[in-house]
Parts: sequence; C-alpha cells; structure tokens
Amino acid sequence: MRVTYHYDEPKTPEEKEEQERRVSAVYKIIFDAVLEERKLEEKLKDYPNGFAIMDGKSYNCCICDMHIKDEELWYDKWGKKCLACQDAVGRNIIPGSICRKHKDWYINWEFDLYFKIKASTIKKLIRQDILKVRIIPKNGFEVFLIKDNAGVLPVKDILKDVSFPVEGDKNAITTIPWYEAKDPKKILGKYKIWPYSTALQADSKNNHQKCV
Ligand SMILES: [Zn+2]
Repeated sequence: MRVTYHYDEPKTPEEKEEQERRVSAVYKIIFDAVLEERKLEEKLKDYPNGFAIMDGKSYNCCICDMHIKDEELWYDKWGKKCLACQDAVGRNIIPGSICRKHKDWYINWEFDLYFKIKASTIKKLIRQDILKVRIIPKNGFEVFLIKDNAGVLPVKDILKDVSFPVEGDKNAITTIPWYEAKDPKKILGKYKIWPYSTALQADSKNNHQKCV
C-alpha cells in the first residue's frame, strides 16, 4: 500500500509553539521509557532470573504482543513476556533473543504483509514441512525463525518499505512496500517461498512489462 506523509511547516507563532510542545511531549515519553528500562535493568542485578512488574500498568508481550500486567508478565534480560511465552523461552522451545530481535523471525501475519501469502497457504506449507514453525505450547503462538527456514525465507532487511520524496512538495515523502519498488522475482526468486507468492509473481510480470 502506498502511503504519503505530509509535513506542514508552522506558519504562525501559535502553530510553532504548538509544534514545539508536541515535540517535547514526544521526547518526554521516550526519556521516561529509557529511565524506566534502566530501573528494571538495575533490579535485574538483584533478581537475575527476572521478576513480575507489579505496577498496575499494561504492557505488550515482546513475543506474542498480548496485553499483560502485574503477575501476568515476567521481565528478564530479554524483555517483558507473557507467562506462556516465558514458559517457552524457559524450556528452550524459542530463543529469548527474539524478544528484541524481530528481524530474526516472522509472525504469521507478516507472510501476508511481505509476500502476500494467505494464512491458509501458510498452514499448508507447515503441513508439507516446507515451513518450519515453533509453536508456543501454552498459547499456540507460531514463531518462524529465519535460521530454521534457511533457503526458504529471506532476511527481513531486503523487505523494508521504500521511501522517496514527492515531486513538487518538499515537505512530503511517499512510502511503498518493497515489492512495488523492486522486482519481487529478483529479490525472492532463489528462496523456496517464491513459488507460493503467486500475487507477487503477478506484480513481477507487470514490473517486467513496464521495464521492457
Ligand atoms: Zn507472549
């Protein structure tokens, strides 16, 4: 999907003031979050195996993204996790490092985002053992590690959205998905996921025709 971001320069002193207020509010949020993280890391020195954060606030599990709070969550060196994901990390079913390194794995909805492949096809590929999945026992959440799927799934760096300036409007940029900016076949052709990316194959043909 093509998205255009437009930035309006403030024209009046009031608009400039409002813009500055918003920017400092954003900085404060970032600063508070960094401070909060530092405090938690400090506490880990006393509790190296982790602890529950009993502050009544809601967080998101860094793996399955579920809303969690208080005794529903466990914090350790990898981050804040729900108890189901924590259990899977503790039993070495999934590596804790995927908490912070989302580039090391795919979530099921990302197959649609990056390859336009629907959930039913993904199920089929798992059944056929083409895609290797690790399933978190207590919540059924699926983790597709790139290292488990070498030669099948590409690294995510090559699938980033591409942004470029909008002609005639210096305050705007447009962002498009990777497969509109590059020829999908050139990028994905050597991976085993490619034959199943039928929607992208159609894009690839159209691109090719445009280039000729
Ligand atoms: Zn979780």
